[in-house]
Amino acid sequence: MPIDAARPYDPDNIFAKILRGEIPSNKVYEDAHALAFHDINPQAPRHILVIPKGAYVSWDDFAAKGSDAEIAGFVRAVGQVARDAGMVEPGYRLLANIGQDAHQEVPHLHVHIFAGRPLGPMLV
Ligand code: IMP
Repeated sequence: MPIDAARPYDPDNIFAKILRGEIPSNKVYEDAHALAFHDINPQAPRHILVIPKGAYVSWDDFAAKGSDAEIAGFVRAVGQVARDAGMVEPGYRLLANIGQDAHQEVPHLHVHIFAGRPLGPMLV
């Protein structure tokens, strides 16, 4: 079910549990600001999720309340994950779903990284 992006942060969401190590993930990257792991239900040959370590429901919440250090650290981490994975050439796509109409399901900000085939024009 898509979530309401304006709702309060739920510390028991599945990505919070992954951050606390209560649920396993297939981790590809971690630093002070971000954790990246493979999506459990990949929508492309390569599909990685990057999440901030702070408690933010969505990109909107993060942009409004995140510190400059958290935001810079997270943005750099997303780029680093794609670079480390060798995705810069031939390319990759970033996506963040925010709220009901975008069909955000997990109420902890996550950026999807898709790669591994020509992704075609963006469909919205
Ligand atoms: P959303 O629709 O942008 O919220 O996407 C949530 C994503 O989280 C989906 O692509 C799911 O496949 C993925 N997902 C849900 N649970 C897990 C998990 O435990 N590990 C990895 N990915 C997950």
